[in-house]
Amino acid sequence: MLVNANAVINYNRCRRFAALNDPFTALYLNKEMSQENAIFRDILLSHLYSPQKEIRKNINLTYEFEHEITLSENYDFLVDDDILYCLTPYTSTDFIELKFKDGQDKIAVFQPNPSGVFEPVIPKIANKNLEGKLDKLYSTYESLGRIVFSYALKYFILKKVYPQKNYRLYFVFLNSEYKYDGISYSEKLYHLFDFSKLDKIDEIVEIALFRMINHLELNDFTPCILAKKACSKGKPNACKFIDFCYSHLPENTSILDYFDSHLGFNETTEEGNIHHDTYDLLNEGYVSMQDLPISWLKDQNNLMQRYCCDNSSLFFHAKKLDLGLNQLKYPLYYLDFEANPQAIPKYRGESPYSQSVFQYSIHIQNHPNHEFQIDENHFEFLANPLKDERKLLLENLILILNQSDSSIVVYNKTFEKTRLEELKLIFPEYQKDINKIINRLFDLLDIIKTNKTLYKRIGYDGPDLEVYNLYHPDLGGSYSLKQVIKLFKKDAYENLLINDGIKAYKAFQSMSELTKVEADEKRKNLLLYCRQDTYSMYQIIQGLKDLIGKKSK
Ligand code: SF4
Repeated sequence: MLVNANAVINYNRCRRFAALNDPFTALYLNKEMSQENAIFRDILLSHLYSPQKEIRKNINLTYEFEHEITLSENYDFLVDDDILYCLTPYTSTDFIELKFKDGQDKIAVFQPNPSGVFEPVIPKIANKNLEGKLDKLYSTYESLGRIVFSYALKYFILKKVYPQKNYRLYFVFLNSEYKYDGISYSEKLYHLFDFSKLDKIDEIVEIALFRMINHLELNDFTPCILAKKACSKGKPNACKFIDFCYSHLPENTSILDYFDSHLGFNETTEEGNIHHDTYDLLNEGYVSMQDLPISWLKDQNNLMQRYCCDNSSLFFHAKKLDLGLNQLKYPLYYLDFEANPQAIPKYRGESPYSQSVFQYSIHIQNHPNHEFQIDENHFEFLANPLKDERKLLLENLILILNQSDSSIVVYNKTFEKTRLEELKLIFPEYQKDINKIINRLFDLLDIIKTNKTLYKRIGYDGPDLEVYNLYHPDLGGSYSLKQVIKLFKKDAYENLLINDGIKAYKAFQSMSELTKVEADEKRKNLLLYCRQDTYSMYQIIQGLKDLIGKKSK
C-alpha cells in the first residue's frame, strides 16, 4: 500500500477510519501541480538558477516500510545535489508569529539563520512555554502540526533512501507581507523553512506510522468516539466520513447547532456548576437540541433556539427588526463583490492570497415601496481575467454608488469594507470617493442577527438587546446569506450552476484557459450568481417587512 503524509494523517484520525476507507481507492494521490504552483516554482527557480547550478525537478522517493507499507513523497526540485525544495500552498505568517515567553521577553520560535532560512530556536535551558508551543507543531490535529508532519515524513524518507547523504530539505512558504510591484517578483515573495532541527521530527513519524498500521490491522468498523479534533467537523480538514459517522444527528437541530456549542453547557447543582463538554455529551447520547435539559441553557439565544426547535416555529423580534429597517436611507444600493484569493499576487499592490476583486453586482431600490424583478435596476461588472481591470471596476462602482448619500446594503460588511480599504491603498487618487462608499455601508446581518452597538446607538436598551432578531430551526445555527434567504425564497440559488463564492472564484480562475464558448458560458453563470446575491438581500428585506407587517399593499 502506497501512502503519503496526508494518508498517514487520515489513518491516525481514529480507529474507525481505516476500516471505513477502501484501501483500493488509495488515499495516495499524485497530485498534478496546480497552475499557481507552477508559476511559484518558475519564480523560485529564476532566483535560484545560475548556469553553475544543477537543478533536477519533480523528484519522487519511495521507501518500503514494514507490513507492506510503501512511503511515497514528492519533492519539487533538487539544487546542486544538496538542497531539496518543496513548495507549499501556505503563507509563513503563523510560523513567524509563533512566539514563546522567556521572562519578560517574547521570542519567535522560528528565526532566520545567516542564510535567511528560518529554523527553530533551541534555548540552552528548557523552557516550559516553548514546549507548549512545540506541542502544537507535533500534533496533526493542528494546522501547523500537519505541515510539520508533511515535512517530517519527507525528511524521514529522504534519510532512509540516502543514509549516507546529508541533504537539506526546505519548505517554501509565501510571505503574506510581500507586495507585488506589478513588474517582477523579488525574493521577498517567499520564506524558506528548515524544520529538521525540531527534536521530535523522527519520533512523530514513527509513532504515526505504527498507529496507522495498528488501525489497519484492527480493521474495526464499529463506531468509535466522535472527537472534535480528529473529526474536524465543519473545518477545511474535516474527515471524509463525517456524513456517515454523524448521520444519527438531526439536520439543523443537533446539539452542535446551538450557538457557541463549542463552549459546552453548564448544569447548576446544589454543589455548584457542572460543566459538560459538548462532544462528551454527544458520545453519551445527547444528540438533538431537545435532548439537553432546558435548565442547562444559560444563554438567551440558546433558549430562543430551543423554543423554535420545540415548536418548529419562526422567531422574530418585530420591534428590533422595525427599528433596524428604519435606519436604511433610500435609495438603497445592494452591493456584492466577488474576489479571487490568488496565492501568487497577479497585479500591483497585491500580496499572496490577496482577495483581488473581479466582479460586482448592484441592485437599486428607489424607495421603501419600490418592488422590482431581478433583471431590473441592476448594474454589474465582471473583469476580463487576462487584464488588470480593477481601476475600471472601481471607477464604474464609484459612478453608480456615489450618485447619492444613501445606504449601501451589504451582507457581512467586513468583506466588502476590507476590499474597499485595499483598493484605496492601491488607487489613492480615489480615496475620497472610496471613503464615501465605506461610510455608507450598512450590514444587513446587523438587523437579521443583531448588533449591540448599533441598537444602543439608536436608543434600544431592552433586556433582549443581545437576542438575535430572527431565527428558524432551518437555519441550523448559521446566518449565512444562502441559509437566511431559504427562509424567504427556498429555491433562490437552486438553478444556478455557480452557487457559492468558492465556485465563483474558481470559475473566474479557469476562464483564461477555456475556449471562447466555454468562457462565455462561465461568464454568464458568474453574472447570474452575483446578481442573485444582491437580489437575495433585497428579497430578505422585503421578507422582513412582510413579517412585521410593514410592506405596502
Ligand atoms: S468522522 Fe470522526 S469518527 Fe468517523 S472516521 Fe472520521 S475521524 Fe473517525
